[in-house]
Amino acid sequence: MDRADPLQSYRKKFLLPKGKRKQLIYFTGNSLGLQPVEAEKFIMQELHDWATLGVEGHFHAARPWMYYHKFFTKPLARLVGAKPQEVAVMNQLTVNLHLMMVSFYRPTPERFKIISEAGAFSSDMYAIESQVRYHGFNPDEAWVEIQPRPGEYTLRTEDILETIRKHGESVALVLFSGVQYYTGQFFNIRKITEAAHAVGAMAGFDLAHAVGNVPLSLHKDNVDFAVWCSYKYLNAGPGSVAGIFVHERHGNNFSLPRFAGWWGHDEKERFKMKKGFKPMPGAEGWQVSNFPVLAGAAQLASLQLFEEAGIKALRRKSQMLTGYLEFLLREADNEGKYFQIITPVQEAERGCQLSLLMKKNGKRIYDRLVRSGVVVDWRGAGG
Ligand SMILES: *Cc1c(COP(=O)(O)O)cnc(C)c1O
Repeated sequence: MDRADPLQSYRKKFLLPKGKRKQLIYFTGNSLGLQPVEAEKFIMQELHDWATLGVEGHFHAARPWMYYHKFFTKPLARLVGAKPQEVAVMNQLTVNLHLMMVSFYRPTPERFKIISEAGAFSSDMYAIESQVRYHGFNPDEAWVEIQPRPGEYTLRTEDILETIRKHGESVALVLFSGVQYYTGQFFNIRKITEAAHAVGAMAGFDLAHAVGNVPLSLHKDNVDFAVWCSYKYLNAGPGSVAGIFVHERHGNNFSLPRFAGWWGHDEKERFKMKKGFKPMPGAEGWQVSNFPVLAGAAQLASLQLFEEAGIKALRRKSQMLTGYLEFLLREADNEGKYFQIITPVQEAERGCQLSLLMKKNGKRIYDRLVRSGVVVDWRGAGG
């Protein structure tokens, strides 16, 4: 199958870390994606333009810095199923989550709750908690975390929808992961959004583990906003710049409150340094600061590969690889003595991650794997 694989050549377009004795087997693209070979060329281009042009690089660099963020729009829009106007690349993920909540979490005494999955990524939990407090509410009352049923590890869609219905008009925001970082569950974005809208709430998604992993259709699914980081499945390098999606119905609503900066101001007069904020239409109107070009350069190199390969073809291959790994793991422990795979078995409900709950000797098995050059992630109970 490797020989017949149309994506075979892409393996050579990434730098695979070498262990002391042999090539490592890398399973942690969910934590830090590997370096595209071309990343260096993209970064060197900017260093070169900076060296030779100085400030003129804003307009005369090979990719002018002034518009650098625009090079991301098309590939990112395609990747998340959005219109180009609906995406922007800026800041870091958690910062973007806060900026989105400024616009889309506006609690009132009647409608103030946030519904999320239980056990969300720590940074998201802190963002939710601090936003709730910032508005003068108590997280114990305003934040509803949906737990799996006893004896289960992932959420049933029906339970998510039912919880949203049950809390009804008290819900201000439904905020979910796309793919859950711990269990690997790929949530039903369309149905969750529909249920949120049915009770008059906003629907936002953290796509940290979904973007570049699974195909998305944020526009069609009618999602209000989404955020993601780029250093996991997008292979953009440690701490590279993150992204947002804002549905066009909000992107052109200039009355929405937001925290503004000059990069979100109408670009025709961005340098007039005038008083009076006039937002850009679309997601770009949420940009605050000028673009971190060096951090973004590596991401452009990676997005180029996504453009060529196509997320549909990547998904097809990733489903086969994940299915094959699942098969091998079940063969290795066919009575389930050592571990249980808690990631959903249905392909539509997972990306390319398999989470194994170890029943016996977990840490020893992990250490052994690491020693033999298999790079996997270990999490203690509850995180
Ligand atoms: C990786 C990850 C983060 C990290 O946040 P940063 O702001 O990029 O440091 C936050 N939330 C989720 C769900 C993640 O997977």
